[in-house]
Amino acid sequence: MKINHLGIATKGIAEALKFWEDALGLENVHTEVVEEQKVRVAMLPLGESRVELLEPTSEDSPISKFLEKRGGGIHHIAVEVENIEESLAKLKAQGMRLIDETPKIGAEGCLVAFVHPGTTGGVLLELVQTVEK
Ligand code: ZN
Repeated sequence: MKINHLGIATKGIAEALKFWEDALGLENVHTEVVEEQKVRVAMLPLGESRVELLEPTSEDSPISKFLEKRGGGIHHIAVEVENIEESLAKLKAQGMRLIDETPKIGAEGCLVAFVHPGTTGGVLLELVQTVEK
């Protein structure tokens, strides 16, 4: 397993890029709207991992709720797994609380599913299975 990306909630990607791209020197290589999650994402490679900037596209986006409560910052950590269905089944069998019992389509067509922070010790964890290219 490896860290696929770190999800960072922001009110506006353009504003956030002033730090992550202009000041720090990372490069925004991919931007897209993920309808299912009601977010716009920007992906900035960092080593074998990436920074994922998340901006809400509507007021009922999970990111809007997070920004209201916490005002931006690290939203989730995404771990890359080989077989997401298998990983979810394994966690479920151990009584772990899942937000998504079945995978959804995430950025770049990846399969994603979230594990509840109540079960991880306070970290929202995203499982990612990348698509074969
Ligand atoms: Zn993510």
